[in-house]
Amino acid sequence: MLPSCVVRPGLQPMTYLVRSYVARAAKKIKPRSDRPENKHFMDFRRVHLKGGKGGNGMMSFLSLFANEFAGPDGGDGGCGGHVILQADTNVKALNHVKTEYKAADGENGKSKCCHSKNTEHTYVSVPIGTICKDESGSVVADLAKQNAIFVAARGGAGGHGNHYFLSNEKRAPTTHEMGAAGEDKHLLLELRTIAHAGLIGFPNAGKSTLLRAVSRARPKVAAYPFTTLNPHVGIVEYEDMVQVAVADIPGLIEGAHQNRGLGISFLRHIERCLCLLYVIDLSVDEPWTQLDNLKYELEQYSEGLSERRHAIIGNKIDLKKSQDNFELLKARTDLPVIAISAKKLLNIEEVELHLRQLYDNNVSQEQGDEDD
Ligand code: GDP
Ligand code: MG
Repeated sequence: MLPSCVVRPGLQPMTYLVRSYVARAAKKIKPRSDRPENKHFMDFRRVHLKGGKGGNGMMSFLSLFANEFAGPDGGDGGCGGHVILQADTNVKALNHVKTEYKAADGENGKSKCCHSKNTEHTYVSVPIGTICKDESGSVVADLAKQNAIFVAARGGAGGHGNHYFLSNEKRAPTTHEMGAAGEDKHLLLELRTIAHAGLIGFPNAGKSTLLRAVSRARPKVAAYPFTTLNPHVGIVEYEDMVQVAVADIPGLIEGAHQNRGLGISFLRHIERCLCLLYVIDLSVDEPWTQLDNLKYELEQYSEGLSERRHAIIGNKIDLKKSQDNFELLKARTDLPVIAISAKKLLNIEEVELHLRQLYDNNVSQEQGDEDD
């Protein structure tokens, strides 16, 4: 079958198809796969979940060679499956979660008192720390531990067959039940945290370059704003096998809290990072204004967000003027500033060590909270 194609105005459909194939053949480009490209990180998803319908009870009377009226023998229907959300450490994002899940329906009851089996449930794996909200926005489940489950949409119960209604008073019941409908729910799934640390900075500060330097994530890098359009998460690995997730959060500009630029949704990503790394471009004049503006944007969005545990990274130290700017920036803040060059890989180890410190502090604080 020929793949469907978009027809450009003024071109015959066949010409367009052939041209694209010829171009691909000439350049020896492999044909694109049919799989949808959905590579960016998704931290929230609206889902429609439907439990399976219960099977109907059977209405039947047995008739044998020796006993023509052997009595009612309609079996019960099986129960419909639930849709169950299950927390799984192997899943890191909500990309794979489909927008709709329907659990299997129960089978109808059969004659000769055959009860149908209950259908298997449909399990949907979600990352640890997924919050489920209902349509009114209230939290209905928080899957915080490995293998925690939430029965999101229950399946309907199976109906009884007419054999169930057999009694001394009624020897030939014709009553039988229909299976109940499954629950039908719309939920919003959200990740509580997307990463341990978030890289916060204005466009072109070098966030994506830094993420490429410390991890194997490959966000796009170029010298124009809004190169990266979606958050990317990379994992920094330490020798003692500890893995720290770092997110490159794009789209932060002045006025972002008023939905300017890529909008407010990117500020929401920042809220889901446990600690922050401010990335400042040292090669521009007055770099401390960047820090003040970034903090102002975060504060306007959510009070106290800018004061979350953080570190300051001065990037592009390899460029002219950066050294002087670095000294000035250091004098203006009380926190230590780490001067690096993400492009030339200067001082990256110090960022990794500082990141580890922030992470360890967070872990020990969490353990302290649990002990209390
Ligand atoms: P982002 O918008 O914050 O993600 O910035 P990018 O990582 O896309 O980088 C923007 C531009 O700055 C790119 O052209 C990078 O090559 C350049 N850049 C990033 N880090 C450095 C650095 O340490 N030194 C120099 N000279 N250029 C850098
Ligand atoms: Mg970027």
